[in-house]
Amino acid sequence: MTETEPETQSTDGNELPATTESAPESREAGNAPKSAGDELPGTPEPEEDRADPSDAFGVLGNEVRMAALRALVDAETEGEGSLAFSELFEATPADNTAGFSYHLRQLTDHFVRKTEGRYTLTYAGREIARAIRAGTYTDSVDFGPIAVDDPCPFCGEERLEARGEDNYVAVECGACDRPTLTLPFPPGGHRAHDPEGLLTAFDRHHRHRLSLMADGVCPECSAPAEAHVDYHDADGPESTRRPQVRFDCDRCGCRLRSPVTLAVLEHPEVISFYHDHGVAIRERPLWNVGEEWRERVVSEEPWCVRVSTKIDGEVLALFVAANLEVVTVRRTTASASAS
Ligand SMILES: [Zn+2]
Ligand SMILES: [Zn+2]
Repeated sequence: MTETEPETQSTDGNELPATTESAPESREAGNAPKSAGDELPGTPEPEEDRADPSDAFGVLGNEVRMAALRALVDAETEGEGSLAFSELFEATPADNTAGFSYHLRQLTDHFVRKTEGRYTLTYAGREIARAIRAGTYTDSVDFGPIAVDDPCPFCGEERLEARGEDNYVAVECGACDRPTLTLPFPPGGHRAHDPEGLLTAFDRHHRHRLSLMADGVCPECSAPAEAHVDYHDADGPESTRRPQVRFDCDRCGCRLRSPVTLAVLEHPEVISFYHDHGVAIRERPLWNVGEEWRERVVSEEPWCVRVSTKIDGEVLALFVAANLEVVTVRRTTASASAS
C-alpha cells in the first residue's frame, strides 16, 4: 500500500483528525537475548560498522541458510541459546556437511556467530530470523470489515468498522465516511489474534509507538525522533486547518502524524485528571478517546496549541509548544475557564 495521507477534518469541535503513519512495519520488542553473545557491552562508544546491504541480504537468498536461521531462532524460543554444527545441519535440507559448511560460512559473522564450537544468532540474524518466523516480510493480511463497538468521533454513529488491507488496518465510519485512522499492523499480530483481540492489540501497539515517539525515541530504530506541531493542511482554507504533530526520524525515515490530543494522552496530568473522575483514559481506543476533547491554536508565533478536555464541569487544559512540550497545565471548573 502506498503512503496514506491524512484527511483534513472540519472544525465541528469534537473531532480527532486521522492518524496515519508512513513507516515500515515493526515487530514486537523481543525478549532479552539469552545467548552469550549479547551481553551489555563494556565499552559504550557507538561504532559505524555497516555491512553493505546488498551483500548482507544477498547471502540470505538460499533455502539452506534460511533453514539454519530458522533453526537457531526456534532453538532460542525453546530456551536453547546455541546449536552445535551437527544439530544445525540436521535442521536444514543440506545434502552433505561439506556443502552445509560452505552455507554456514556465508552467514558468519554477520548473521551467525561461532563461539566455542557452537552457533548463535547475532543481533542482525535474530532480527531477520524473528521477522521471517513472524511473516513480517512475506505475509500480507486482508480482512474485514469487522464491527468496532465504539461510536464515531465525528457523527456519533454507534459503531465503527475495521478492515485490513495488505497489513494496514483502517478504522472507518460507514455513516459519515470520514476516515478516523489508517495504520500498519504486523502480519504476525494479525494472525495471532481473534478479531476482538486484534483490535485491542492494534490499539495498544500504536499507543505505545506514539508514546515512544512523544518521548523522543523512534519506535523502529531507536534513534532520536523529533516532534513538530504545525497545521497539517497549512495551504487549505482557514476553516479546515487543524493542528497536528508530526514525528520524524532522520535515521530510518519513519514518520508519523497524529492529532496533538493523542500525543499528550500519556501526560501524567491527563491520566490523573481522568483518574480523579473515575475514568481510565488508557482503556479508550485511539480511534475514539472521547468526544469531550478540544484542540485550539492559541498562537502561531511561537506555536501554542491548547488541548483541553472536560468532565463533570471540570476542565483540564494543556498548552503545547511546537516541540510537543506541555508548557502549562490548567485545571479549572468550567465556569472559571477561558473557553
Ligand atoms: Zn461517522
Ligand atoms: Zn527511526
